[in-house]
Amino acid sequence: MHLPVSSVPKTKQPDFIADHVRAIPRSGIRDFFEIVQSMEGVISLGIGEPDFVTPWHIREAAIYALERGKTGYTSNLGLLKLREEIARYVNENYSLGYDPANEVLVTVGVSEGLDLALRAVLNPGDEVIYHEPCYVSYSPSIALAHGRAVAVSTREEDEFKLRPEALRAAITPRSKALLLNFPTNPTGAVLLKSELDEIAAICREHNLLVITDEIYSELSYAEAHTSIASLPGMRERTIFLHGFSKAFAMTGFRVGYACAPAPLIDAMMRIHQYGILCAPIVSQEAAVEALRHGRNDMLEMREQYRRRRNLLLHAFRNMGLPCFEPRGAFYLFPSIKSTGLSSHDFAIGLLKQEQVAVVPGTAFGPGGEGYVRCSYATALDQLEIAARRMAKFVGRK
Ligand code: PMP
Repeated sequence: MHLPVSSVPKTKQPDFIADHVRAIPRSGIRDFFEIVQSMEGVISLGIGEPDFVTPWHIREAAIYALERGKTGYTSNLGLLKLREEIARYVNENYSLGYDPANEVLVTVGVSEGLDLALRAVLNPGDEVIYHEPCYVSYSPSIALAHGRAVAVSTREEDEFKLRPEALRAAITPRSKALLLNFPTNPTGAVLLKSELDEIAAICREHNLLVITDEIYSELSYAEAHTSIASLPGMRERTIFLHGFSKAFAMTGFRVGYACAPAPLIDAMMRIHQYGILCAPIVSQEAAVEALRHGRNDMLEMREQYRRRRNLLLHAFRNMGLPCFEPRGAFYLFPSIKSTGLSSHDFAIGLLKQEQVAVVPGTAFGPGGEGYVRCSYATALDQLEIAARRMAKFVGRK
């Protein structure tokens, strides 16, 4: 018989937690969304995932895989046919050639790819430079791999681009890698080829490895996307991370990939092989279908995101919130400095008074103070209502 939880006697819990894990803060986004979930009638611009359901033919491929009894492990590297499709896709879209036999690894999302990349290359105390505001997992992932996270601030005046001088200033003899994410979560910043050329030259000069998180690269609205891995002398020093979550609206499938020269993929594969074994087979089958026949769905979703971005951008500017025009991803990062509120107080006030959820910019690093992140992966009619409610809130300040 089980005792009810309330009557289980409380004993002092010994502390088993490792120091470097204890030092990691909880995600600011998660804490905030616990409040959101306890409320009713909230329009959320907070979630960093597509509101689209995965296109039907991709779901059908997953169902069909189950029907055919595809329920076992795959090769540790992932299904060969998926690695072949990935190599073809990356070649066609990023002008990068990788051998599906030993230069492509199928992972459990970019999340696992990033963890593997960091664990494969970092010795304790090695420094990883990254640009901030950035995706919430970068600094903790570096710390969990026993590296030292070195943030380089990006500023609205520079369109949140990583400036070469700022990168140079952050380099020390312990610098091992540069972690890039363009288009950027949470700012929507991009780097043009000429700007990437300058960053690449610094990486070659200082023998830095580049880990590039390309998860939003299909969602580029202005210029064609360039991957730093495709620039001269960069393929051999770059780990290219990508996945299916954003471009194909497949977050729940948990599937992504890493492409890199064979010795790097081999090192990552050894960690993956013991920690994960392989990505789920059903998700891999679905991913094959996405790469073979998902292009039009991706383009259609991108067009929807572009329309939503334009609507919300104009709404922010009309209500007096200056906002950098994002060139990619599905986030706007308006400045709320004119309201006199901190990012946190703005987000809490907006949530309580107008039932609209946005994420305080500080969740993405200290440089996010004075900004909030608004995701436009939300239906157009909901965005219109959210914008009206926000205008009321801002008008009262
Ligand atoms: N990188 C960035 C920049 C992201 O925004 C996200 C998800 N929000 C991820 C990686 C994680 O992606 P995945 O679902 O492929 O693990």
